[in-house]
Amino acid sequence: MAQSKKYLNYIGGRWIPAKSGKTFPNINPANKEEVIGLLPESGSGDVDLAVKAAEKAYGEWRLVPPPKRAEYILKASLLIQKRKEELARLMTREMGKVLRETRGDIQETIDMGFYVAGEGRRLFGQTTTSELKDKFAMSVRMPIGVCGLITPWNFPMAIPSWKIFPALVCGNTVVFKPAEDTPLSAHKMIEILEEAGLPKGVVNLVHGGPSTGEAIVRHPRIRLISFTGSCEVGKLVAEHCGKVLKRCSLEMGGKNAQIVMEDADLNLALEGAVWGAYGTTGQRCTATSRVFVQEGIFEKFKKMFVERSREIKIGDGLKEGIEMGPIINEVQRKRVHEYVEIGKKEGAKLEIGGKFAKGKDLDKGFFYEPTVFTEANNKMRIYREEIFGPVACLISFKRFEDAIRMVNDTTYGLSSSIYSKDVNFAMRAIRDIEAGITYVNGPTIGAEVHLPFGGVKNTGNGHREGGETAIDIFSEWKSVFIDYSGKLQKAQIDVD
Ligand code: NAD
Repeated sequence: MAQSKKYLNYIGGRWIPAKSGKTFPNINPANKEEVIGLLPESGSGDVDLAVKAAEKAYGEWRLVPPPKRAEYILKASLLIQKRKEELARLMTREMGKVLRETRGDIQETIDMGFYVAGEGRRLFGQTTTSELKDKFAMSVRMPIGVCGLITPWNFPMAIPSWKIFPALVCGNTVVFKPAEDTPLSAHKMIEILEEAGLPKGVVNLVHGGPSTGEAIVRHPRIRLISFTGSCEVGKLVAEHCGKVLKRCSLEMGGKNAQIVMEDADLNLALEGAVWGAYGTTGQRCTATSRVFVQEGIFEKFKKMFVERSREIKIGDGLKEGIEMGPIINEVQRKRVHEYVEIGKKEGAKLEIGGKFAKGKDLDKGFFYEPTVFTEANNKMRIYREEIFGPVACLISFKRFEDAIRMVNDTTYGLSSSIYSKDVNFAMRAIRDIEAGITYVNGPTIGAEVHLPFGGVKNTGNGHREGGETAIDIFSEWKSVFIDYSGKLQKAQIDVD
């Protein structure tokens, strides 16, 4: 077997191995025999080195004018744009999603870079009045310090870009740990930031798994944790950050629903549900895992959905015409399958799928069949828990109010959608669904970078990435008062 290429951590502007000398493999989920590379398995010593480098760089970086900081981000984004196709191919190899989608992931990174680069000339604060004479008042944004960024594997470059770019434009420095399943896309992104001339130590890349992440969360001199991943891990992060009063922003799971009203354009609703359920092999935090269909059209819609699920072309995402790639790894595939077994035991009806996908080109990868359940209800785990695979439940409802109640009957609250031609239903859905995102006549997936992104209830802890709200995560407010009266003036006292 050919020797796999070894990749390194990036600390203080140097590419170095982990102190342990240990590595872990990066495997192609469409062909488990292909080892794409070996990555350093980093420990707390490596994290500490990265924090030291980030602290050292922070002293100067925080003083670089924001428009200058933004220039590095713009330069990097332009380089990413130039290399979009090469980066997309690489991402499909390590993550599995089809090329059309990895191009989208890279495009989202570019969009985020362009958007945040503009922020370098905004970072608006407020100027306001003072209650006292000859006194000026304003608020300004300040950086926070060293930020620890921990990301999942389903958007290997886009999610890091949602964190790294806003953190940098605000004047912070970064210790970044990407998901262990998709380290190469992260590696490429950092290489590009280096090529864009980013000063040494401003961004530091530390590869590894849960224990590396934990070392970041627990490092006393990391001032902020920005985490995207599962609820399970998010709670651990929040617990520690709560104990030591560390700032933390969490973006976690979803159990997203699409409502299809009787008056909807059924073909449009079908295409939306199929894309929402099977896009990224169902491994999106915004994936459509419950489709609520009004009873008068339920049977017809079910038939259409099952038929369309049967036609989905599964395979290596690098190949033309493939609609759905593999699941990220074997553990995750087994987890999805376990949920299918649980669903069957709980009494839901399996309409199609529910098996590992087999075939000449499929046996080497972690493929799974598009899977549809009916007759699921809110007592069942497949109705309530995030499955993170190509599994959808079709559920019938009578009245609009019933649908809203059922959509909201979950601990999550990320994305939602309604298909209807009736503006009254649309407006009421926007008002009544408990979620961070509601689409009208569109699927539950497809966020745009300049709008707030995140969810309510157990999906997050009140922060929003994307848009201006990302800047709120990565900056602190300072209120400033300038007294030019030449005398001591006392607020609330000298007001007469
Ligand atoms: P995960 O929670 O297993 O891992 C996420 C990251 O945390 C990885 O980098 C991992 O190495 C690290 N990690 C694991 N254990 C840790 C610990 N104890 N301390 C610190 N770090 C630790 O999630 P995943 O399987 O990589 O991703 C899938 C999950 O991410 C799904 O639940 C999905 O809904 C969620 N997700 C949410 C969003 C969002 O914006 N809301 C976006 C994408 C994915």
